[in-house]
Amino acid sequence: MTKEIKKIGVLTSGGDAPGMNAAIRAVVRACSSHGIECLGIYEGYKGLIEDNMIPLYARSVANTINKGGTFLRSARCLEFIEPEGRVKAYENIKKNNIDALVVIGGDGSFTGAQKLSKEHNFQVVGIPGTIDNDICGTDYTIGYDTALNTVVEAVDKIRDTASSHNRLFLVEVMGRDAGDIALNAGIGAGAEEILIPEIENLGIDRLMHSLDTSRESGKTSSIVIVAEGNTGMNILEMRDYVCKHRPDYDVRVSVLGHMQRGGAPSCADRVLACKLGVKAVDALLEGQTNVMIGVSHRQAVCVDFSVALSKERELDKELLRVADITSL
Ligand code: ADP
Repeated sequence: MTKEIKKIGVLTSGGDAPGMNAAIRAVVRACSSHGIECLGIYEGYKGLIEDNMIPLYARSVANTINKGGTFLRSARCLEFIEPEGRVKAYENIKKNNIDALVVIGGDGSFTGAQKLSKEHNFQVVGIPGTIDNDICGTDYTIGYDTALNTVVEAVDKIRDTASSHNRLFLVEVMGRDAGDIALNAGIGAGAEEILIPEIENLGIDRLMHSLDTSRESGKTSSIVIVAEGNTGMNILEMRDYVCKHRPDYDVRVSVLGHMQRGGAPSCADRVLACKLGVKAVDALLEGQTNVMIGVSHRQAVCVDFSVALSKERELDKELLRVADITSL
């Protein structure tokens, strides 16, 4: 039997993502709607350990839904990885009378939340906030849609210059272990080729083959999207390889980098954040703990942390086929 909840803490942890503010706002206002207090914790687990918190009311989160980043700020906190760090965090949880916690972050943040919950018998739920869309048990993570739109917009601009000069552009996008951004933004931006870490044969050999067939089919410029994860070579080595073996190509490299994390969240991310934030508070009030609030077939659902963290999210293989056909 869980105890009655009078005060909920909320924090953002790990890599920031557009839409985190919208999720905080939804949690705060869901608390208000239930007559529960809400405490914002600054800089993720660091703020728990350092007792850096602020009461949040419905009006405190006005004009935040449209803002990128996270006004509570995020941090990577090494101290929390050790049990002693989590003891300190729990002491501050008790000191501030926090009955339950909402953690907005990625798989690392959920692992920390799971440990805190189990070691101290404390109620925790997670909301997936990461641009990579790399968490099992949810169709989408908050920030992913915005990142896709950012990449597509950037590649559209690169295409203008590529086609004016017969250039080959290698565009690196984020996604260390997951090629979701590369694959989806690549299709959306009409890339000629997409290289992602999940599929072994999507490296340099495939790129060379694709360049040859593009030439034969009459293409004069090309955009290739490369996920930053391991595709066999880094993007500069890829450029050097192509320059050496296909000297007729004018090859340019563009690394989109951190711009992919920034910007105002898309409408889809705002709605997702609102939906998951409201459900997170509902779930805590129902006594749920150690679960991530995900979205599946449009419904907000509770997914056990052990499931969300158990395996790698599978790539949508059908999209590879779609990419091949639509880039002919
Ligand atoms: P993300 O949540 O985006 O995956 P990180 O992997 O950096 O980002 O994790 C965010 C924070 O979660 C870390 O700085 C740390 O405080 C906590 N954390 C990550 N992994 C663990 C772990 N194995 N045990 C306890 N806490 C962890």
